Amino acid sequence: MEHPAESHQSDPLALKLQQVFGYRSFRDGQREVIERAMAAEDGLVIMPTGGGKSLCYQLPALMMPGVTIVVSPLISLMKDQVDSLIQSGVAAACLNSSMAREQHLDVLKQFRFNELKLLYISPERLLRPDFIQRLHEIQVSMFAIDEAHCISQWGHDFRPEYAALGQLKQYFPHIPMMALTATADSATRQSICERLQIAPQVHLSSFDRPNIRYTVAEKLSPANQLRQFIVAQKGASGIVYCASRRRVDEVALRLQQQGIKAAPYHAGLPQEERIQTQDSFLKDKVDIVVATVAFGMGINKSNVRFVVHYDIPKSIEAYYQETGRAGRDGLDAEALLLFDPADIGRVKHLIEQSEPGPQQQVEFHKLNTVAAFAEAQTCRRQVLLHYFDESASKPCGNCDICLDPPKRYDGTQDAQKVLSCIYRLGQKFGINHVIDVLRGSKSATVTDRGHDKLSTWGIGQSKSHEFWLSIIRQLIHLGLASQDVRRGSSIQLNPTARPVLKGEVALMLAEPRIVMNAIQRRTSP
Ligand code: ADP
Ligand code: ZN
Repeated sequence: MEHPAESHQSDPLALKLQQVFGYRSFRDGQREVIERAMAAEDGLVIMPTGGGKSLCYQLPALMMPGVTIVVSPLISLMKDQVDSLIQSGVAAACLNSSMAREQHLDVLKQFRFNELKLLYISPERLLRPDFIQRLHEIQVSMFAIDEAHCISQWGHDFRPEYAALGQLKQYFPHIPMMALTATADSATRQSICERLQIAPQVHLSSFDRPNIRYTVAEKLSPANQLRQFIVAQKGASGIVYCASRRRVDEVALRLQQQGIKAAPYHAGLPQEERIQTQDSFLKDKVDIVVATVAFGMGINKSNVRFVVHYDIPKSIEAYYQETGRAGRDGLDAEALLLFDPADIGRVKHLIEQSEPGPQQQVEFHKLNTVAAFAEAQTCRRQVLLHYFDESASKPCGNCDICLDPPKRYDGTQDAQKVLSCIYRLGQKFGINHVIDVLRGSKSATVTDRGHDKLSTWGIGQSKSHEFWLSIIRQLIHLGLASQDVRRGSSIQLNPTARPVLKGEVALMLAEPRIVMNAIQRRTSP
């Protein structure tokens, strides 16, 4: 991503870059953003995580007279940045609620005497009337609003404290403002600019993370799929995201029992334990963190090799952000999403129970876009980039669709096996029982009912449970059969099943993608 080393003689920006930060060249987009900031233009900077956003305001802050005010949502992030700036010899400080009173007074003193180049502050503190008054008394070069998506309800991390930042432009109409974020589809983008009252001057750098391989696998036997996948990673670091705390506990425990160094992480665990887990993960003492979305923001670990979504993510932004934690060192990384179409229905149901209104519409929209991504039959990266209004002209060659294109086959016979089995079972049994009979199970649930005497018993023996699950899901999806939730989820035949059963029409089906071929290809020599 870096450009060839720049010549410094006639280039004060490159000189500063080298002297203070020790970098030889700017990355994509950085120079343009910095030059615009120094020309006192407002702007929205959109760069993927790890793209180098901080430099976009830190460098101009050093070039301009006065102090740059940086708004940041997380105390830990502020502290890290300030520490590293101070190490580079930059006069930087932060103001937040975790500081002792003396420290606080000391920072305010430096601030009043114009000794600071950068001041990091939380939004609620910035907007206190006494602080606004102080700002009027000194020279402010710029406001930088980090993690600006927090201001938007369209974003994935709305924070009410951020909403009030809309007032800044009224207090300080002439001070330039730079908003920065890693995640912004056009709706979020627009809403950030509207809220901050800045003209939509957007600086984009590519969202593509070419070293991340995206794979969506049908969720068939998730526990097995996860184990297989993790074993193939040979002890590399990774994160497994689950939708609920309960699921996190279950999955982490199961992995531990399989001898894998895994730890759970969610907001329901004691703080000491969470800190401990985070620390062990950073130090490579724990290979895998199984977590809710509470884990990750502010985690600066560059060698995360894979991110698994055990359940469907909340939105495309969230998915991009979460998978983006893999491969920050630029080396190959995997993103695996286990997708069960029924998860969509479950989430939809949850949203339906929330209060009707604009927020509910937003949630429906987000869910639909994730569903479209997971169900897409085209290059995953093209779908993702398109979502961020970036077009990729060619398929990427590094996602499951590109590496292992979905195949269709004449599934008439397989469909007939399933449909006739459902028929013989009197349309009174659920998916698992149908599969057990097809595969010739001798379990008590089958034999006690005499189902081992049926003509369809064992006709699907040569194929796995997962194979049949995928076929049955497709038949339901195509409307040949349906599942009656009121009757113990039993499967019934629909009239359209008739011509298929009688062999009057042929039925094309998608070949089930049981093994994650793309991943296996990569991990085996
Ligand atoms: P973001 O906030 O966009 O996620 P950061 O500002 O934390 O990204 O930068 C990510 C990493 O890239 C940091 O380690 C930073 O020091 C490094 N970096 C930023 N700009 C450059 C550059 N021009 N050359 C080399 N490294 C850079
Ligand atoms: Zn692709």
